[in-house]
Amino acid sequence: MFYIILYPIRPFLFIKYSFFTACKNIKLLNGKNKMNSTPIHRRDFLRLMIATGLLSVVSKQEANAFSSKAKGKIVIVGGGAAGISMAARLNKWLKEPCITIIDPNERQYYQPGFTLIASGVYEPDDVWKKQEDYIPKGVTWIKDSVTTIDPVINEISTSKNGKISYDFLVLTPGLQINWNKVEGITYDTLGQGNAHCIYDFNGAQKTWKAMQEFTQSGGKGLFTDTYTKHKCGGAPKKICLLTEHQSRKQKTREKITLGFFTASNELYDVPYFTPRLLEIYDERNIPIQTNVKIKGIDTQSKRAYFEKSETRGEEKIITPFTEDYDFLHFTPPMSAPDFVRESGLGWTEGKFADENWVMVDKETMVHKQYSNIVSLGDCSDLPTSKTSAAIRMQVPLAAKNLISLMEGKEPAEKYNGYAACPIVTDYGHVLLCEFNYAKERENSFPFSMMDMSKESRLAWILKVYILKPLFFYGMLRGRA
Ligand SMILES: Cc1cc2nc3c(=O)[nH]c(=O)nc-3n(C[C@H](O)[C@H](O)[C@H](O)COP(=O)(O)OP(=O)(O)OC[C@H]3O[C@@H](n4cnc5c(N)ncnc54)[C@H](O)[C@@H]3O)c2cc1C
Repeated sequence: MFYIILYPIRPFLFIKYSFFTACKNIKLLNGKNKMNSTPIHRRDFLRLMIATGLLSVVSKQEANAFSSKAKGKIVIVGGGAAGISMAARLNKWLKEPCITIIDPNERQYYQPGFTLIASGVYEPDDVWKKQEDYIPKGVTWIKDSVTTIDPVINEISTSKNGKISYDFLVLTPGLQINWNKVEGITYDTLGQGNAHCIYDFNGAQKTWKAMQEFTQSGGKGLFTDTYTKHKCGGAPKKICLLTEHQSRKQKTREKITLGFFTASNELYDVPYFTPRLLEIYDERNIPIQTNVKIKGIDTQSKRAYFEKSETRGEEKIITPFTEDYDFLHFTPPMSAPDFVRESGLGWTEGKFADENWVMVDKETMVHKQYSNIVSLGDCSDLPTSKTSAAIRMQVPLAAKNLISLMEGKEPAEKYNGYAACPIVTDYGHVLLCEFNYAKERENSFPFSMMDMSKESRLAWILKVYILKPLFFYGMLRGRA
């Protein structure tokens, strides 16, 4: 009875929940702000909450307006942002779902929050929930790791549970961080010699401690990205800008020098947003070096080893150089997990042979060789930014395409490459970069009404207070 009364107003309860969670966090209602950020006006906050609420109502209606009698055993490998969201959608849309998730992880992390842990905005416990609470009702969860997949006979090998067969496969194991590809540091020694990385939950916590000490004591801070495709390309830039602002907040800016090294030939490759980003680095006196890879770190002497590549005519010239540092934030190379390579599901030749991303059609997300496999999220070769914002758009389309395949039809849904990267430019502002495959801006409501080529406080509110509840209570539940 209680459920019948509450059912029609569930979207509004979600809005109310998000609103009060956020209000509690930021002490908006009594004017105090416990987080490490600038104050927020009630009017801005309400404007965004209304937009989020409308979005969630529309998304929920869309999510409920589809169903299929298709049958088949679906196995989802990897229950992270993409895997759990796929499970939630498929479980909703199939009248007789038969879904198994294989994932060893007991926790579901909101990884975009790692940057905010590393800058003291979030506490570590703000960004994770128990995985068991996100396995949709009726879905089987096997807590295990996949070791190989034989796509010819539709069979998965696992570490502890032997072989598992499937009719249809959703491949969403995320990516692998190859710590060993930066010489002199391993995952276990992360943080030694003040060399930090926020692409890891523990690493983010160590970064926050070290960043506070560095901005107090002063010295030279270096920041790098990497030469492979990596998740959230904005993250290294964000932590650099936040460190700079933290030093201004501490009134120690004149005691530190900062430098950003990118392996690309430009800082950012979405033309609508690049000019302002370059301007911000210039205004903050953070020089940028392009075409530079970090090769190694000597944590004893706090020295980083780099290589700069240049092309002169036909010739490619590699120049090694070293830089001493006091604080280093580096980004290790990344790839698809090893088992993807071993299963013959990723690139074996061409530009991604080393990184081995799963080969899918960039519009339908169906595997190029095996038509009973869809893959999305970080492990896939979709030529867009590896972000959960992108996954939010990929999931409903990939799920519908999988259902079409189960029904013996052609997959008809087409993903346009939408991704978003909220680049935090200081405590209180975010440059909200939203774009598609063509690297054209593609602003979502209500931002389409604003000039998003510049950083804004409204986007900061979205980043810090709205996106996390949207992830845990909307996306992972198959509602948004
Ligand atoms: C520091 C940082 C900042 C970020 N900032 C943003 C941001 O601002 N905005 C944004 O949208 N995105 C951001 N992202 C990116 C976003 O978090 C990822 O793109 C997203 O989480 C990827 O989802 P996924 O499901 O593909 O992989 P994941 O969420 O990583 O999930 C992969 C799952 O697969 C499981 N798995 C792995 N190997 C196996 C195996 N062999 N067998 C079974 N299971 C396996 C893992 O246990 C895991 O649960 C950020 C990420 C980081 C790290």
